[in-house]
Amino acid sequence: MMTNPHALLATESTAVSFVDVRRTFGTVNALDGLDLNLEPGELVALLGPSGCGKTTALRILAGFDRPDGGQVLVDGVDASSLPVNRRDMGMVFQSYSLFPTMTAQDNVAFGLSLRGRTERGKGRLARARELLDLVGLADHVNKYPHQMSGGQQQRVALTRALAISPRVLLLDEPLSALDAKVRYQLREEIRRIQLDLGVTTLLVTHDQEEALAIADRVAVMHAGKLEQCAPPNEVYQRPSTPFVAEFVGTMNHIPGIAVERGTVQVGEQTLTCDGEWPGAGPVTVLTRPEAVLVDEAPGGDTIITTATFYGATTRLRLTQPNGKVLLADVASHRAAMLTTGSRVRVSLLKRPVLLAPAE
Ligand code: ATP
Repeated sequence: MMTNPHALLATESTAVSFVDVRRTFGTVNALDGLDLNLEPGELVALLGPSGCGKTTALRILAGFDRPDGGQVLVDGVDASSLPVNRRDMGMVFQSYSLFPTMTAQDNVAFGLSLRGRTERGKGRLARARELLDLVGLADHVNKYPHQMSGGQQQRVALTRALAISPRVLLLDEPLSALDAKVRYQLREEIRRIQLDLGVTTLLVTHDQEEALAIADRVAVMHAGKLEQCAPPNEVYQRPSTPFVAEFVGTMNHIPGIAVERGTVQVGEQTLTCDGEWPGAGPVTVLTRPEAVLVDEAPGGDTIITTATFYGATTRLRLTQPNGKVLLADVASHRAAMLTTGSRVRVSLLKRPVLLAPAE
């Protein structure tokens, strides 16, 4: 497994900025004025629904595509006119994209030869072997891609991308073709390597769990624009827009009355609210399942309709007297008392909620 790769893969951390980047395909605004900064050494995950412009942003940074407007700055210098091979970016794609007729070692060495990199007097093959050893592939250097698992192939692809000590590492859905366990292991390993090297990294993913787990900041995109870019806990706990709130994690939609700026009434509870103030009147209150408190004391009017075990937590589906459904996550050790068909009382955790238009 990976030890300390610093000595072999030292890189200088690079800053990247997308400044009002626009890209149109026919009538589609794939990027509609994207502004996004990556600090040196930071891992930013671009997250968003299919078609929101994630891949277009990554391709423009890599140099595979050109923006119609705006700038991409690499360490403050406009990279727009630089060809792909002069940008010094390492790329890993979903589809591994290894050369099928080359061994793992040759694949990595080929990357080195393209950039004319040899180091410390060692031949490219020796360096490729050394790098593969670092990612736990010492026993696989002479294997061809078809003789390796998906996870092993993706490690080779990652090694090939890192071998050139790139200024920026670009990861385009690198884990989505792998099964869950390998995906989990490899994402931890990518994060460890990235932190060890301090290489600025842009990860494109539609997997919110992956983004929240390994990114320094998560950039949520919607229709070619950035909705919010913040550390994972902030995106989850304090989404800046209803779109982000809906896209990251699960939300309950509860009818409420906005009373005055910052205050909303839900049944008998008065809660504080964050984000844009819609004006007094009926609204939809957005709350996470873990912010729904369930009390099994007698006299409750809400019925547990299903209980789904997720390990540490159990998700309850609750039907209220008005027929509306609420989801609540409770610690599984409590779930034994909260059986299907039971009547419970429900309240909401007092923390700032987000408001959306009334449904
Ligand atoms: P996904 O998660 O599905 O890969 P994405 O967020 O990466 O989506 P993009 O691939 O960046 O989205 O595409 C953004 C929009 O631009 C989409 O509507 C897509 O159809 C369109 N698009 C992208 N590339 C082209 C192209 N070469 N020609 C025409 N339309 C394109």
